[in-house]
Amino acid sequence: MKKQLHLKSILAVMLITFMIPYGYSQSTKLPKVVILATGGTIAGKGASETGSAYTSGQVTIESMIDAVPNIRKLANLSGEQLSNVGSQDMSVEIWLKLAKRINELLAGDVDGIVITHGTDTQEETAFFLNLVVKSDKPVVLTASMRPSSALSADGPLNLYNAVAVAANPEAKGRGIMVVINDKIFSAHSVTKVNTTNVDAFAAPMHGQLGDVNFGNVEFYHYPHGLHTTKSEFSVDGLKELPRVDIVYACADMSPDLIDIMVKAGAKGIVVAGVGDGNMTSTTLEAAKRATSKGIPVVRSSRLCEGAVLIHGEVDDAKYGTVASDELNPQKARVLLMMALLKKRSRENLQQLFLDY
Ligand code: GLU
Repeated sequence: MKKQLHLKSILAVMLITFMIPYGYSQSTKLPKVVILATGGTIAGKGASETGSAYTSGQVTIESMIDAVPNIRKLANLSGEQLSNVGSQDMSVEIWLKLAKRINELLAGDVDGIVITHGTDTQEETAFFLNLVVKSDKPVVLTASMRPSSALSADGPLNLYNAVAVAANPEAKGRGIMVVINDKIFSAHSVTKVNTTNVDAFAAPMHGQLGDVNFGNVEFYHYPHGLHTTKSEFSVDGLKELPRVDIVYACADMSPDLIDIMVKAGAKGIVVAGVGDGNMTSTTLEAAKRATSKGIPVVRSSRLCEGAVLIHGEVDDAKYGTVASDELNPQKARVLLMMALLKKRSRENLQQLFLDY
């Protein structure tokens, strides 16, 4: 009996000496990933598993992590709740808070960041961060189209895949990414293309950056445009951004809209133009009135594919306008807000739209 006890103690000492330190060193080898939660459908809850009605931003980050099997095997995870809003309520205030926190974390020993976000304005947040995050470490936004309480909720696998991408060394240097429905997109090219389908995102101009299946990551290429460590923009000391409005063009569009925006205090205007960034002749005259007052007008397009060409059908030099190149109206607005923090010539502004 005594001998058995003695043997047991030797075994226990061996376990403590060899196995526990080994296990400990294994887990410390996992990349350190922080999940910053902002809200959205991924944190949404509905009354019924099959109904379409629900409220965004109801579930906390800790419960979201706990709902994903094996996610803690991918990375040393911790979560922070930055906001809990549907992304239709995403604001410049939250953007600045998010960007500053990401820069702080990535300057330390954190290897990657995942941001949970609503899908409605996800591309705008991703593009904003692409301009102001000062690190080449992976930053991945994810989301879901179905609330956490729905039948076949897509959030858990999207979160699992997003963590796998953020923990992957090959994700470095690819700017801010969006991971959803097994696809990896760049902030520059991603856009939401469907109101409710699980397959709601696409990158019509440059395609996906890669794919991720149950945590297996494959990259195809690097993103288009300057970003993160190559970007000239910064959030240091920033408390707000200049007001930039978007106006949607259509047949027989009234020129009043641009005049009204100027009167209301817009410091810049983006036109979601028809076709190649076009608008009615009377609206072009209103654009000229704005640009001659020093309020930049950027011609983007309401179409989701194709670049807006400089001096296409519009003589940009004559009207003082700038072509958005490949940026859709909502991303053109983000770039213009950042660009307006400094006085710039029309030519310099145009160059930014070609570079980013
Ligand atoms: N309006 C919600 C949001 O953007 C719905 C979209 C979603 O998260 O899927 O937060």
